Amino acid sequence: MAFEGLTERLQKTFAGLRRKGKINESDVRDAMREIRLALLEADVNFGVVKDFVKRVRDKAVGSEVLDGINASQQIVKIVNDELTATMGEKAVPLNKSDKIPTVIMMAGLQGAGKTTTVGKLAKYLEETEHARPLLIAADVYRPAAIKQLQVVGEQVHAPVFEMGTDTDPREIVRQGMAKAREDHNDYVLIDTAGRLQIDEKLMQELADIKEIAHPDEILLVVDAMTGQAAVDVAKGFNEQLEITGVVLTKLDGDTRGGAALSIRAVTGKPIKFTGQGEKMDALDVFYPDRMANRILGMGDILTLVDKAQKNFDQKQAQELTEKMQANTFDFNDFIEQLDQVSQMGPMEDILKMIPGMANNPALKNFKVDPKDVTHIKAIVQSMTEKERTDPDVLNPSRRRRIAAGSGRPIVEVNRMIKQFGQTKKMMNQMSNGNMAGMDQMMGG
Ligand code: GDP
Repeated sequence: MAFEGLTERLQKTFAGLRRKGKINESDVRDAMREIRLALLEADVNFGVVKDFVKRVRDKAVGSEVLDGINASQQIVKIVNDELTATMGEKAVPLNKSDKIPTVIMMAGLQGAGKTTTVGKLAKYLEETEHARPLLIAADVYRPAAIKQLQVVGEQVHAPVFEMGTDTDPREIVRQGMAKAREDHNDYVLIDTAGRLQIDEKLMQELADIKEIAHPDEILLVVDAMTGQAAVDVAKGFNEQLEITGVVLTKLDGDTRGGAALSIRAVTGKPIKFTGQGEKMDALDVFYPDRMANRILGMGDILTLVDKAQKNFDQKQAQELTEKMQANTFDFNDFIEQLDQVSQMGPMEDILKMIPGMANNPALKNFKVDPKDVTHIKAIVQSMTEKERTDPDVLNPSRRRRIAAGSGRPIVEVNRMIKQFGQTKKMMNQMSNGNMAGMDQMMGG
């Protein structure tokens, strides 16, 4: 999970401030030093760190912070605001052309995730705008690249225009554009060649393609795992090609996250999307404020809500809330929820979006095997209707019968029933406004 180290260090710094009660200037100075180190360690660009710390210090010293009882909270707030500002304040939407097709050209080094992102973006446009994009295969140097784009195209049901590897990429783009106009595609996504590093020939080719296709959007795809190098790459491409936005991939990996914080400040170009996995739906719109919350360990609750809204039936959600409040949540509801939640993505990622959970040590190595979900379902399906609606009747002999029926060991059945009880209790508390971790999240 990205930002883990940074989040941990910042939280430690804030906790240190909280313990002090009243904060004086030297406390602020110490905290600033900690924040500076934390950012540098997270591989944030040196200049960006310097600027950042200065802005936070100026605001902290300039405001009434030092006298307030909630001084540490105010500092958390200032850091949060400045993190957001550093990353660009607001989400920046894709540029769109007045007439079709809108042309999006992808650029980036080899392995950054261009081809994958073309597929993800096609899916995103199909889902959000019912778009009909045409994908153009203009990477002729890596023979497998065309095949890869075709596979991706098939996954997202988008046509791919290709002319093999013997035609000049410029010609491919020219003919691909003509094809898109002929077929009235509303978007064209151009997958271009990458190299291991920036070289002149590649840049010339990209400049020529830009000249031919007049893209509305040149998205540079960079790999977050490469940290500072990603920022240098972005700077280099921007100087030579004038990009319009960045897609930061592999944020699901074990990156220190520095690139997310530096790119906007160094290049002046917004991150528009992040890639959070290899699958075609693992693309998220980049919201600087949400990312700041995530970095500070406040969870990415808004993204969670977005995901939930996409996957949850509103009526069911309402019913669920009522059941949680009335404490009548039973095993039938549990199974229904399990199905809906599994559609939202890996369970461990979802849990980490909840405020206060991101750094919960219990979740550090927590992984939910999809097989476990199948097992849980098997256990519930072996219960009678009475047992499902009234779990209190689950005595040892019933449990043995369920274990035999589901083919799962008795310890697993017991564990599942116990966890269900705990979940139910927690849900009941949460729905009654006692959101554990909420005050901790705000530094209280
Ligand atoms: P290209 O050379 O720039 O076209 O890169 P590819 O699209 O072939 O991606 C290189 C590798 O990175 C592939 O194995 C992808 O599955 C993987 N990849 C791309 N985006 C992501 C991402 O957001 N997260 C993860 N974990 N892997 C990614």
